Amino acid sequence: MTSMHLDTQMVHGGMDGLTESGVHVPAIDLSTTNPVNDVRTGGDSYERLATGQTLKEGDSAVYQRLWQPGVARFESALAELEGAESAVAFATGMAALTAALLAAVEAGTPHIVAVRPLYGGSDHLLESGLLGTSVSWAEESEITAAIREDTGLVIVETPANPSLDLVDLEAVVAAAGDIPVLVDNTFCTPVLQRPIEHGAALVLHSATKYLGGHGDAMGGIIATNDEWATRLRRVRAITGALLHPMGAYMLHRGLRTLAVRMRAAQDTAAELARRLSSRPEVTRVHYPGLAGGDPRGLIGRQMSGGGAMIAIELTGGFEAARTFVEHCDLIVHAVSLGGADTLIQHPASLTHRPVAATAKPGDGLVRLSVGLEHVDDLARDLFSALDSLRSAA
Ligand SMILES: *Cc1c(COP(=O)(O)O)cnc(C)c1O
Repeated sequence: MTSMHLDTQMVHGGMDGLTESGVHVPAIDLSTTNPVNDVRTGGDSYERLATGQTLKEGDSAVYQRLWQPGVARFESALAELEGAESAVAFATGMAALTAALLAAVEAGTPHIVAVRPLYGGSDHLLESGLLGTSVSWAEESEITAAIREDTGLVIVETPANPSLDLVDLEAVVAAAGDIPVLVDNTFCTPVLQRPIEHGAALVLHSATKYLGGHGDAMGGIIATNDEWATRLRRVRAITGALLHPMGAYMLHRGLRTLAVRMRAAQDTAAELARRLSSRPEVTRVHYPGLAGGDPRGLIGRQMSGGGAMIAIELTGGFEAARTFVEHCDLIVHAVSLGGADTLIQHPASLTHRPVAATAKPGDGLVRLSVGLEHVDDLARDLFSALDSLRSAA
């Protein structure tokens, strides 16, 4: 299937063997345990799966925490889309990041170099040191200098959350040298960006967002090489943050419409970004697809478009942001992103609340996840919320 276009892979990935078994979509297998044939082969299966190897012909899956067929289907579909050898899915995006960090700790390389801004939860996890990691925050140009003997990962996010700043992946990979680079690709999805083609070793998604696409299933997944995948599956088997089979089914189903959803939301976001730029209450629109939003020309080289996330800065700081967000009506005031409906939130108060004061987003910044509504209805809602700033002033 790798010779097929991405749109075709989205629809058919991870669906093999269905026709032969007389069904059209995968069955949802909820078994928490799986009968074993005999003591010896059961033990062999357990040994293989608990050390992070994959299910072999004739193996028993043993126990849901060790192997789940619907999870494996979702993993094989996402691996194919990212151009990776393997993928390993987890209960949430944070569980996926946790597994990568624990694998680095286990390898004796607990030091992490990371470029801000990252998703607030990722920043919080790294800053807390809870898993035994330590972090050096670096600008893109400081990565090489920040690397130490015990550095296990370089972590970046592009476009970054919430500033929509772009990171040059090939430059980061070159600066990281032998150290594997983990890219959070949640905002772009493989429709717009495939970091492995630019040298990344691990590609992380909060599948809760665009991959699922409907705001009704949580999950996380890392696409990577076989060696890292084995380590991550081992961590998952031992620590237990498995994706539920129902979630795996829903996230896998979400992949089938991912390409059309991404493109539609991106078209709407580009138009909204343009319209918002004309408003005097808006001091800056952060959108990579706008003139000036991509100073290094990464769109076309690394990303195929500007995506569907926008951040805007308002004159009037916190009070203006609060009034604006609270006056949106069609657009729902909520964290998360990547669903069918447009969401708005104030990062400094919500998603990026735990971030250190020096790295926190500005008080006048508001983030939008553009969904699948008609652009005119979204523009009307945003413009009327902007009008409310004038009457409030
Ligand atoms: C939401 C999010 C995460 C965390 O994922 P969860 O599924 O909420 O645990 C990580 N990175 C980015 C960019 C996100 O938006």
